[in-house]
Amino acid sequence: MSIKENLEQVRQNIADAAGKVGKRPEDITLVMATKTVDSERIREAIKAGGRIIGENKVQEALKKYEILKREGAEWHFIGHLQTNKVRDVLKFADMIHSVDRLHLVEKLDQRLQQEGRSLDILIQVNTSHEESKYGISPEEAISLVRQTARYDTLKICGLMTIGLFTKDEVIIRKCFKALKEIYDAITKEGIDRVCMKYLSMGMSGDYRIAIEEGANMVRIGTAIFGSRPTPDAYYWPSEKTDADRAGKM
Ligand SMILES: *Cc1c(COP(=O)(O)O)cnc(C)c1O
Repeated sequence: MSIKENLEQVRQNIADAAGKVGKRPEDITLVMATKTVDSERIREAIKAGGRIIGENKVQEALKKYEILKREGAEWHFIGHLQTNKVRDVLKFADMIHSVDRLHLVEKLDQRLQQEGRSLDILIQVNTSHEESKYGISPEEAISLVRQTARYDTLKICGLMTIGLFTKDEVIIRKCFKALKEIYDAITKEGIDRVCMKYLSMGMSGDYRIAIEEGANMVRIGTAIFGSRPTPDAYYWPSEKTDADRAGKM
């Protein structure tokens, strides 16, 4: 199957899942997860109508951005972000999905102030309680949103999570339901300058479920580009470093 055909199939599945919950296809934003995918294949996907690129590694993204920046796509950063990469990520990212700690918020704010601009962000929540995945804990999420909202360089546009990798649909749904609950709670609280517009959840294996549970932004790689040569452990380190745990990276 070509990238174009895969993309059409994914769009059809998105439309079907959206229909089930009374939403229109255009209510769901598709982010193409392009880690390990080379620029030419990404270009093919953009030509086939893919509008948003989601990258996980800053240096990998920058290289592709240099080649593809005139294609008119939107660039999202969806991977774990180290504070020493803040300056580089801001060279290409229109949105960051993975803001998960105050230290990172401070560093982003500092740099954005220097550049005299603001940035759209999502707060990443770890709904699977897995050590291996980044994200603020569900218990601390609202507090991080409140604190982040004080930085006027950062525009909180929603929440992001990575669901648990399991075949057990009940458990997957639990992760998504947990994020939707936090999303609703934040919406209800009506925090100044916070707009709960995007609920970014769902990947190739679980985007239909995510949409049923309220996702309006899905991040899809494999179903569009085929399986990846590099193990995902490279993108989601299985062990956090001590510096990470201390929130210092
Ligand atoms: C790779 C990745 C995806 C997409 O994963 P697939 O299973 O290939 O669809 C989504 N979100 C994040 C954060 C990713 O790293």
